Amino acid sequence: MRILLTNDDGINAPGFAALERIAAQFSDDVWAVAPAEEQSGAGHSLTLSRPVRIRRLGDKRFAVMGTPTDAVMLALAHVMKDAPPDLILSGVNRGGNLAEDVTYSGTVSAAMEGALAGVRSIALSQVYAREGMGDSVPFATAEAWAERVLRPLLDQPFEPRTLVNVNFPALAPDAVRGVRVCRQGFHDYGRLRIVERTDPRGYPYFWFGLAPTAPSPGHVTDLEAVADGFVSVTPLALDLTHDQGLAALGARFGD
Ligand code: MN
Repeated sequence: MRILLTNDDGINAPGFAALERIAAQFSDDVWAVAPAEEQSGAGHSLTLSRPVRIRRLGDKRFAVMGTPTDAVMLALAHVMKDAPPDLILSGVNRGGNLAEDVTYSGTVSAAMEGALAGVRSIALSQVYAREGMGDSVPFATAEAWAERVLRPLLDQPFEPRTLVNVNFPALAPDAVRGVRVCRQGFHDYGRLRIVERTDPRGYPYFWFGLAPTAPSPGHVTDLEAVADGFVSVTPLALDLTHDQGLAALGARFGD
């Protein structure tokens, strides 16, 4: 099995090293094509307005001066053109990618790109709690649980243009209660914090941050699973069509 690894925190991120150790449990044919610098929040963006450069760091290790989507596109179209991957793993992200955050996430979007290309793709994220744990992210939990989560996914058929989103809870490995397959949830809206400041030349600028949320998790969602101490496993589909809306709009337009 040939595995492509990528992420959105950058190729030098601690979570990427964790992902490399995870992948080594499954294969010795592991390729890394990941952004050179942090791209968290890049979503599914691709770079169109400037050139994208790639730097070879090792035999199967490449840093891309671009987004996670750029990295996957370059991996499939260029780096691994003659030896395409059987599996794409994206992560392990520093922080959860739960609920609607999957639409902002470069980590999940890299897996979306893989899914669009017809490659089995899985996103992995490690939730952490700012309070109590300092700023340390318990990647050991992802490492301890990844094989139990990934092994059953390797021979499970994935529908075309679907992927799997995995989040590890902010707990020590032996405190995790198990694995739960669940829906994507939604956070309560309104946690965006925009700080307005003034730059040294006197012009205003804005800095976006996400305040921690006290979500009201719907049942059997990723938010609830992680809050309950489980690893969440959520199948996602790239077809965003709302089926009821299709019927309702069809009726509306006299279809
Ligand atoms: Mn990230």
